[in-house]
Amino acid sequence: MKALTYHGPGDVRVEEKEDPRIEHPNDVILRVTRAAICGSDLHLYRGLVPDTRVGHTFGHEFTGVVEEVGPEVKTLRPGDRVVVPFNISCGTCFYCQRELFALCENTNPNSELACGVFGYSHTTGGYDGGQAEYVRVPFADVGPMKIPDDMEDEDVLFLSDIFPTGYMAAEMGEIKPGETVAIFGAGPVGVFTAVSAWLMGAGRVIVIDHVPYRLRFAEEFAGVETIDLRKVDHIVPYLKELTEGRGPDVCVDAVGLEADGSALHDFLGRVLMLQAGAATVIDWCINAVRKGGNVSLIGVYGPPWNLVPIGAAMNKNLTIRTGQCNTRRYMPHLLEHIRAGRVDPKRLTSHRLPLDQAPEAYRMFAAKQDECRKVVLVM
Ligand code: NAD
Ligand code: ZN
Repeated sequence: MKALTYHGPGDVRVEEKEDPRIEHPNDVILRVTRAAICGSDLHLYRGLVPDTRVGHTFGHEFTGVVEEVGPEVKTLRPGDRVVVPFNISCGTCFYCQRELFALCENTNPNSELACGVFGYSHTTGGYDGGQAEYVRVPFADVGPMKIPDDMEDEDVLFLSDIFPTGYMAAEMGEIKPGETVAIFGAGPVGVFTAVSAWLMGAGRVIVIDHVPYRLRFAEEFAGVETIDLRKVDHIVPYLKELTEGRGPDVCVDAVGLEADGSALHDFLGRVLMLQAGAATVIDWCINAVRKGGNVSLIGVYGPPWNLVPIGAAMNKNLTIRTGQCNTRRYMPHLLEHIRAGRVDPKRLTSHRLPLDQAPEAYRMFAAKQDECRKVVLVM
């Protein structure tokens, strides 16, 4: 089969690779129909995720048609169309029983930190991902959700990650009706956090970024106020000014460790290597949010240290919540929002390209060229 493969930072190729096969009675093999490229894939692409091996295939946001079924799979048949959550979960361990699918104990040898994830390095189990013609899906009765006959693959593709992730980010903010929510990052996750904040009754939603075309899209798609970081001196006092001097009730970090905009954090993380990347946005969230407010951290950080203002958080009585999305838990509910027409996730897609052009797609997405918001590879 053809598959995207990693060859080192900034170097991904589409190559011939052996077809995946059933390795365990609970596996299915999918013929991939759509695979998206995620902001999280850029961390891999830039070589920031430990133990990303040459030859590894990325891709954790995909839909497909079941091609082959392991002998113990009960709920899927060849020909079924499915959307697959990015986490791989066993469905029976302590955490899965509590629907904390991202914490599954049985799908990653490094399970102290994370469960298995498709196409996300050997740090999360080394499972090849879906940016390929075929992919093996373990524990196939647990993750995959059948796509209703009256819906297209692309209607539900983003249930694999970014819509549930944005939804969980908003949920972790514990938004009360009428509250003001500030979201850092106008990428796909930030935009779906904004949509979800409205669904949860927010009174005001503000999205912050420094890329004008992304802010414009957030305004159109999610009906939010936006702030272009390049136009304000310092975002923390500016947010306070906008919110009667107190600060937003909820601040969301939908950026993670590749944040721009702070010379201090760049120096600490990228020059002195004292922390993983830049903790800029979590720092801003803690300082901007009102006393007693909630900070939701959904952007990805690596396991090493980060220098965050924990003293400010403590003295301000903040609630900080964070985590990998428990994707599967949210999929049925969010499917209903899509079906009811309240959210049309596929409007986010800016580029549809064949698998062969995946290397160009990565370059374009990483450089934010051609107003790239989200690439969907069409097989
Ligand atoms: P993305 O790279 O497309 O978007 C990030 C946006 O942040 C960009 O538009 C960028 O311009 C902006 N940005 C950079 N520095 C900023 C700053 N200082 N302030 C405000 N905005 C800034 O990524 P995405 O797909 O939207 O994902 C966002 C983050 O969420 C990534 O870290 C991704 O890995 C993470 N993520 C987490 C989970 C989870 O389960 N926790 C799941 C999916 C993605
Ligand atoms: Zn993703």
